[in-house]
Amino acid sequence: MSVSTQSFTLQTRGNTDVLDITPQVIQTLRQSGLQNGIATVFVPGSTGGITTVEFEPGLRRDLPEIMEKLIPAGRYHHDETWHDGNGHAHLRSALVGTSFTVPFVAGRLTLGTWQQIVFLDFDNRSRRREILVQLVGE
Ligand code: ZN
Repeated sequence: MSVSTQSFTLQTRGNTDVLDITPQVIQTLRQSGLQNGIATVFVPGSTGGITTVEFEPGLRRDLPEIMEKLIPAGRYHHDETWHDGNGHAHLRSALVGTSFTVPFVAGRLTLGTWQQIVFLDFDNRSRRREILVQLVGE
């Protein structure tokens, strides 16, 4: 059993930007040389989200639209604390979560054909993000 921890960076536009990070996660798995185990993909930060979706044009629009319905941009108590206007971003991050776990078998992620790993940047400005991938296996 061994552990491989790697990272990659992203430039985002913020405002619930949806980015497919599957290729980068596959790359970290290849570089690790591990064959079987579990990959955890994590964003350090409280205004991002990591989940899975079919990365196609319709859902790339649907995801930001449903987030706006569920947790509209606007005034939240957080903004009274910091006045940074991104209370909705923290709440969306808390709802979606900041990590995603997927098993890998024989050197391949066990994702479905129409299942991609996506990073969502909920913040109200463009950001440079570091995404961590920790692989535990053999
Ligand atoms: Zn904030």
